[in-house]
Amino acid sequence: MTLSPLTNADLHCHSVVSDGGCTPEELALRAREGGVQLWALTDHDEVGGVAAARQAALQQGLAFLSGVEISVSFAGQVVHIVGLGFDETHPALLQGLADTRDGRGPRAREMAAGLAAVGIQGAYEGALQHVGNPALISRTHFARWLVEAGHCRDVPEVFRRFLTEGKPGFVPHRWASLSDALAWIHGAGGVAVIAHPARYKFTPNEEVALFNDFKAHGGQAVEVVTGSHSASDAARYAEVALEFGLLASRGSDFHAPGESRTELGSLPDLPGRLQPVWMALQDRVSYPS
Ligand code: AMP
Ligand code: MN
Ligand code: MN
Ligand code: MN
Repeated sequence: MTLSPLTNADLHCHSVVSDGGCTPEELALRAREGGVQLWALTDHDEVGGVAAARQAALQQGLAFLSGVEISVSFAGQVVHIVGLGFDETHPALLQGLADTRDGRGPRAREMAAGLAAVGIQGAYEGALQHVGNPALISRTHFARWLVEAGHCRDVPEVFRRFLTEGKPGFVPHRWASLSDALAWIHGAGGVAVIAHPARYKFTPNEEVALFNDFKAHGGQAVEVVTGSHSASDAARYAEVALEFGLLASRGSDFHAPGESRTELGSLPDLPGRLQPVWMALQDRVSYPS
């Protein structure tokens, strides 16, 4: 199998190892059914699903890249940095991710306390019922429980009313630094990608600072076509990729059936004038026999 700029690459999604609803095996099957040819699993702050995902991908005839989505604090906001094509057994990467995950338990208890203060009892225990990996309790698990318990109609409503800045279940948190996250990815031989840049609420100056700092620390790529971007977001970040000399990535950010807007493999192609990140990662890809 040879890769091309038009390969159906889906390089961003989540399994039950973080806040997705499917096992790595179920995702591999879904990816094949969705027409994906090159796939990466990018769980939040965790690579525990990568080996199983690779094995399942190769069984389904898909090419595969290791992946992760690291939570980073930058200019008072959370930025997600995707890593691709690294050695998922690299000790410094594993230690950095473990340290990043460590804050999640105490944060979750504080979130539950905030919800209890507005009359919603038992949120921590409720969220835990939705967790596939106890080390990775996330806002998504709280959101699923709040819907199940009848407090909201759907997950987006939970985020609007309870889990975003200034709302009762939101707890500010210090995640990894940009330089540490990039050092872990690069130390393990991978390429770093700024995930879904249109989702951040930076001022123009802060956004330029993010891209400059990312480049200064050796960051090489940005997501242009993602489930989190509208067509106009993609057009804008295609220009930004060219302006900053970055490779471009493409990924659905699929989480769970019925919850995610974008199915694995269903995104439009990257604009033709961009350099796809996967063409620079061809020697890091596991190919089916
Ligand atoms: P956490 O890492 O615990 O802060 O959770 C972040 C996750 O929550 C993201 O990766 C998304 O899966 C989900 N999320 C964030 N904002 C929203 C939103 N407005 N609607 C639905 N899901 C969201
Ligand atoms: Mn998520
Ligand atoms: Mn993200
Ligand atoms: Mn994601």
